[in-house]
Amino acid sequence: MTPHLACVDLVKGYRKGKVQVPVLQGVDFEAARGEYVAVMGASGSGKSTLLHVLGLLDDPDRGRILLEGRPIDRLPDRRRDELRNRIFGFIFQSYHLLPELTALENVLTPLMIRYGVIAYKLRRKRLVHQARLLLDRVGLGHRCNHKPSELSGGEMQRAAIARALAGQPSILLADEPTGNLDAATGQAVLDLLRDLNREEGLTMIMVTHDAQVAAQADRVVRLTEGRIVECLTEVP
Ligand code: ADP
Ligand code: MG
Repeated sequence: MTPHLACVDLVKGYRKGKVQVPVLQGVDFEAARGEYVAVMGASGSGKSTLLHVLGLLDDPDRGRILLEGRPIDRLPDRRRDELRNRIFGFIFQSYHLLPELTALENVLTPLMIRYGVIAYKLRRKRLVHQARLLLDRVGLGHRCNHKPSELSGGEMQRAAIARALAGQPSILLADEPTGNLDAATGQAVLDLLRDLNREEGLTMIMVTHDAQVAAQADRVVRLTEGRIVECLTEVP
């Protein structure tokens, strides 16, 4: 079976002054359709870098990224933006909601971007209805008109998850999604992500430095010295 998303020999570094700092040094990784994979690694090991490169938010220096076996790493900007909007949903540790917009408006942003002003207006009623259903799905139906400053951390992350789902992506990329939440709230968010993975068949790649969080995935890999290694033993 062709993996849903894969990368081959991915290399990425950052320039700091005159020195090139290597981060990803030949990452090979794949996720099957519907699989829930956790990527562990120490702080600074390159987990966020890997997720950004896989989701086309950043360019690799070398290597390939394959979506259902087709390379997507060297696409023209427009095609790349389109894939980012349609295939990938992103969830970040610090939510990245727009503070001046309500939860509902935040969820609608990816759709405004997708359709553009005129086509969005024509579809507005239907899209607003869909966005409300998504906020219901994540348990925020009663918070549609609240701004992020009026929401708790767990609620903000739920709103961010609803926004990530708005474009009906097939792959969710989550970067330490519970990193800013207390244990109970974090577990509720993880349960929600697990349900979405099971019920919607979403492929999920979650990075975390927390072994207990990682252990909830189908499979755990570790990013170490710029490469991915499989964790064959149970994570404690
Ligand atoms: P992790 O998410 O595992 O903590 P990151 O992917 O954020 O790690 O970072 C990996 C390394 O790359 C770190 O040493 C970090 O300082 C460096 N790095 C990340 N982003 C940048 C950037 N935009 N410019 C320079 N260095 C960066
Ligand atoms: Mg990180």
